[in-house]
Amino acid sequence: MTIETIFSKIIKCEINADIVYRDHLVTAFRDIEPKAPVHILIIPNILIKTINDVKPKHKKTLGHMIIIAAKIAKQEGIANNGYRLIINCNKHSGQEIFHIHMHLVGGHPLGPMLIRKK
Ligand code: 5GP
Repeated sequence: MTIETIFSKIIKCEINADIVYRDHLVTAFRDIEPKAPVHILIIPNILIKTINDVKPKHKKTLGHMIIIAAKIAKQEGIANNGYRLIINCNKHSGQEIFHIHMHLVGGHPLGPMLIRKK
């Protein structure tokens, strides 16, 4: 069953978002609660709930998400200093919205990616 999320509504322009890029495969918009000076979410225009649901037919769309991430990073002026791309999957990652999204974060030093819990 297809369970649409708030991100489907953003794609369909049914709710507002600060959209920075859009084409026939992906939409990118600023995160509502940015965790860094630049925090943009890049999502496929079709609903894929989690990375576990990715199929070979999604290869073009998922590859395109990375190409667009690099393009947006350049537009935002953070490409040279660097940035991080994150895709969360399910409970242990903290995924909240079940429509695959790539976080593009940067604009200042991001620190270590993970801190080991004891
Ligand atoms: P997750 O934890 O699922 O990887 O990330 C979900 C992200 O979506 C969070 O960073 C959260 O701030 C963002 N988010 C949740 N609801 C909205 C919304 O309505 N608009 C925008 N622009 N971002 C949202």
